[in-house]
Amino acid sequence: MNSVEIIEQLSNAPGVSGFEDEVIHAAGKYMGPAFSLEEDRIRNLFIHRTACECIASQKNLPKVMLDAHSDEVGFMIQSVNTSGTLKFLPLGGWNPQSISAHAVKIRNTKGKWIKGVVASKPTHFMTPDEIKKPVNIAGMVIDIGATSKKEVTEKFNIRIGAPVVPDVVFSYDSENDLIFGKAFDDRLGCAALLEIMKSHVQNDMAVDVVGVLSSQEELGLRGANISVKKTNPDVAIVLEGTPADDTFNTNDFIQAGLRKGPQIRHMDKSVLANPRFVKFAIDIAEKNKIPFQEAVRSSGGTNAGVINLHDRSVPTITLGIPVRYIHSHHGIATMTDFTNTVKWCKQILKNLNRDIIEGF
Ligand SMILES: [Zn+2]
Repeated sequence: MNSVEIIEQLSNAPGVSGFEDEVIHAAGKYMGPAFSLEEDRIRNLFIHRTACECIASQKNLPKVMLDAHSDEVGFMIQSVNTSGTLKFLPLGGWNPQSISAHAVKIRNTKGKWIKGVVASKPTHFMTPDEIKKPVNIAGMVIDIGATSKKEVTEKFNIRIGAPVVPDVVFSYDSENDLIFGKAFDDRLGCAALLEIMKSHVQNDMAVDVVGVLSSQEELGLRGANISVKKTNPDVAIVLEGTPADDTFNTNDFIQAGLRKGPQIRHMDKSVLANPRFVKFAIDIAEKNKIPFQEAVRSSGGTNAGVINLHDRSVPTITLGIPVRYIHSHHGIATMTDFTNTVKWCKQILKNLNRDIIEGF
């Protein structure tokens, strides 16, 4: 399976927070028997190269946690209306204006995905005043084409609490090096993590690497709260699909443009990245001529926010693959930015050792 194919599988897999099962399954299948896989009770997946476990412990190598989150933003069914439409709540951060009129899929009690459309009051029935006002989530429903509450529960087998994902199919435009799809935040990070884990030659490295697909990031970094304790790393690298800002920012403010390379964050709302680790990573990118972008963000947050506060503090950096329009149905990214992120992270791992980590 090549990079595009694993991204396609992970992007298409439905996995809102708490329901990451199909993402974890696809990742496990891709890694194969050379890796030990372990799941905890909150659906975090820990990936470790089996053959290296004994080598690593003998050498007592410092441990690097590679983190990416497996969940995506979506919704949960809250109640069923008499008309057969469904009320819902968001899982993760959504701009209400980008929800309405999009297609979704709802998992029913049989495990089957049912097609639906997010609907709001049609323009024909709105007053002139209503037309002017933005519609909030409370004014929207999901319509699956049912005509009664009974039909929803008995024919479509949908109960409240059902997870809902955007109904979007991945596509790749090889001619223009573009990928389109849902959940690039953070399935691009997950795909990069799997590729890095698969390709690195651990025997040649002075660090032991544990890959973690953390759950429920979109609900407040919940999975990482647990996974960092189990991993207990010496340093961590968080791989993210980061929001691209090049379509609405002026040139001076662009810190996540498409085709401009992976982004390294100095800070966001959740963390101030370890400055010495950031410098180490930037030096490596410059030495290897890997394009990169630096960001100082007043908003946003990643699992680095909880990982860096573990124990005596874990020096942590976040590398982000720029994605246009994350937290909406459709993301746009480039394979070049993805490949450069994998390349950069591999070089960082290759150059890390105990002395350097102590210096952080
Ligand atoms: Zn994310």
